[in-house]
This record gives sequence, C-alpha cells and structure tokens, in this order.
Amino acid sequence: MASIERVKSCRKSPGKCNKCDREIKQGEPYKFWKITRFSSKSVRCVDCPDPRPSQLTNSEFYGQLYGQQESIEDALKSGEMDEIIGAVDCAIDDFDGMMSDLDDKISNLESSFPNGCPSLDTLQERRDALEPYKEELESWKSDAESRWDSDKKEEDDENDDFKPDPAKTKEENDEALAALNEEHNQNLRDELVGDLEGISCGV
Ligand SMILES: [Zn+2]
Repeated sequence: MASIERVKSCRKSPGKCNKCDREIKQGEPYKFWKITRFSSKSVRCVDCPDPRPSQLTNSEFYGQLYGQQESIEDALKSGEMDEIIGAVDCAIDDFDGMMSDLDDKISNLESSFPNGCPSLDTLQERRDALEPYKEELESWKSDAESRWDSDKKEEDDENDDFKPDPAKTKEENDEALAALNEEHNQNLRDELVGDLEGISCGV
C-alpha cells in the first residue's frame, strides 16, 4: 500500500488538493502519495482527510476488500444496527464474487503453470484468507440479526431492572424506563460491534 508523505512547508505550489480543489500555496503544508513508483503524485491539503486504504492501492483485490471494510467502518460510525448489518451483508455478497473471480484465475493459472508460479501462490493465499473471513462475517451477521431482533427493547417495553418511583409522575417514570431501555440497547449494540471489530482478514 502506498504511504502518505507529509510536507510541512512546500517550496513551490504542488497544485490543487484532489479533494476540495483548493490551490495549495507556496509555504503551506500538504500531503501526497503515489500509488506506484511511476504514478503521478496525488496531492491533498491538510484540512482534508487522509486518503483511505482503498485509495492507496492499485490492486483490484485490495481496492475491493478495503472498500468494503471502509463501508462497514462508515456504518459503525452511524451507530445504527440496521446500517451495520446492511454493510456487512453487502461485503459478504462482494466477497462471494471476489472468491469466484479468484477461483477462475486460480484454475486458469493452474492449467498454464502445472508446476505452480508465484502469482498462483498469491491468489491462493488471498482465497484462503477471504473464505474464513467471509464465513466469520456471515455468522456474525446471523447472530447479530437474531439478537438485535429478539433482545432489543422498545421505549415502553418491560424491563426487570425498572422500578417505578411512586413519588414521580407517570411521565417521569415513562422517561426513566425509556432511558433504561435505550441503555440496554446501547449495551447490546456495543457487544455486537465489539464482536464485529474482532473479525479481521488474514491478508
Ligand atoms: Zn483539501
């Protein structure tokens, strides 16, 4: 993956930021990266976020893998369980397609190079890492879906930990119950997200 170089003060303008299109002036800090030794510089101002891993690779495989992982990260930031499960579902679909592409490439190479070749090893390594990763995501997804469905509480659902306070009004008690149920959902969400964050791809 390309690394990001950071320049504190440029001697001459490196041109425009490729994200916000602002001209970076002489003396300003900026950052740049090159996908390969021979590719042109991609330039960004310091106010714009760093490029994401999927933008730092010229490999189709890693571009796709990182792209799906970034979608899951974005969904995690939203904090919405439905979005997170949706992003994981999308990734699983995509990884299925990537695995069958890899299978095709592997069988083509195997017939051309019956004694093996380095590219074949690389493809096989990716295939061997992607499959268990996809399977772990699948089992996370079915677990998360069923637990979120059955254990999530609505605002006014019963909660064993809740004792209405007779000194308070009905509205105050309703609010306290809703807050307790939201806390319950937050804990469940945190637990499921923690499990998801523990799953990683071996390549
Ligand atoms: Zn910018």
